[in-house]
Amino acid sequence: MDKNFMVSIEEAMELVQHTTPFGCVKKTPLLAALDLFLAKDIHAPINMPPFHQSAMDGYAVLFDETHQNDFVLVDEIKAGDNKQRILNIGEAVRIFTGAPTPPNANAVIMQENTSVKENVLTIDDILSKNKNIRLMGEQIQQNQIALQKGEKLNPAAIGFLATLGITEVEVYNKPKITIVVTGNELATPGTSLESGQIYESNAIMLQSALLKKGFTNISITKVKDDYTATKESLNTAIQENDFVLISGGISVGDYDFVGKALLELNTEQIFYKIKQKPGKPMFLGKNNKTIIFALPGNPASALTCYYIYIESALQKFIGNPAYQKNTIDHILENDYDKKGIRGEFLKANTNGTGVQILGSQSSAMLNTFAKANALIYLNEGVRTYKKGEVVKTFLID
Ligand code: AMP
Ligand code: MG
Repeated sequence: MDKNFMVSIEEAMELVQHTTPFGCVKKTPLLAALDLFLAKDIHAPINMPPFHQSAMDGYAVLFDETHQNDFVLVDEIKAGDNKQRILNIGEAVRIFTGAPTPPNANAVIMQENTSVKENVLTIDDILSKNKNIRLMGEQIQQNQIALQKGEKLNPAAIGFLATLGITEVEVYNKPKITIVVTGNELATPGTSLESGQIYESNAIMLQSALLKKGFTNISITKVKDDYTATKESLNTAIQENDFVLISGGISVGDYDFVGKALLELNTEQIFYKIKQKPGKPMFLGKNNKTIIFALPGNPASALTCYYIYIESALQKFIGNPAYQKNTIDHILENDYDKKGIRGEFLKANTNGTGVQILGSQSSAMLNTFAKANALIYLNEGVRTYKKGEVVKTFLID
């Protein structure tokens, strides 16, 4: 494992995407597939509507150029009825929304435009062919593609598939994710803080970010800065998960055991560091099928790395065709002196057009991050940025 193997931000993004596989495809009940992506095209098993349907409460008629009014009422059809009433020219049936129209009816007149006297229907409307009739297969015909591979199943899509009688779909499965938190100094919120301790915040922060995107299969393990304990914990994490997100212990300190443990567990290193601020030590590895991200412990660094790299990896895994997180151009609202050579991500706030760099950019602090809705991305190289310049941003939520 080469601790000096450092890549650029662009290289890191590409390597993350290249390394992450698509998740496995699973037949899933419709409701459980909400917000997931289709792994295959879906063909309509039936016509929709399955029969010619009345779109109104009113009267179905059979008219021609010789007979346009004063129809004789011969029957009544309500929703759910199974009647095949053939009409003669000049005949009509009382009909209700959703009911099957007589096979040869050629219009439905809404009841508000009619009057009935002694079984004769008089209409005050202009007749036209198939008026107010939902034709069989008008929405979709049997065997046509209803939804395509890669489409996200939103509530309307779920409803649409249900109208076709579909109960399960093949989607990319959601990943099983574990968060491994390292650090002797970490106390659990809710317990009292001993001298030298800080409260552990990365697990719940990353878990929140994952939950926000619909990832619910998450476990959390906490481990001390101890080589054997770290290795054991990571071994289990790798065996049991699609993604392992490690917090802390990846830097160069004497008590940072994550890199060594991953190496001992035969993890393939993709990179160890990124030329970026914050989050220089950020490891990407692969162990069998498991993708491993080791994030810096500093909370703002860990969250930045999550947004920039992990989010797109997870989106690829669940088959989102737009898994790459794209930048959006915004107009900078303050000057900024970029002193370091590394690329930078700055916590910022945008109102849609302008973007403002927020106060403290420390990687140890979350107070300004809590108010940010964007990360400004500045390329490698020393440079002064002026108010009014266009900068690239990543939107976060
Ligand atoms: P490390 O990457 O382990 O060297 O940690 C870098 C800094 O982040 C140290 O100041 C840690 O105390 C802090 N830190 C590490 N893990 C966490 C955590 N889970 N929650 C809050 N702060 C942390
Ligand atoms: Mg540590």
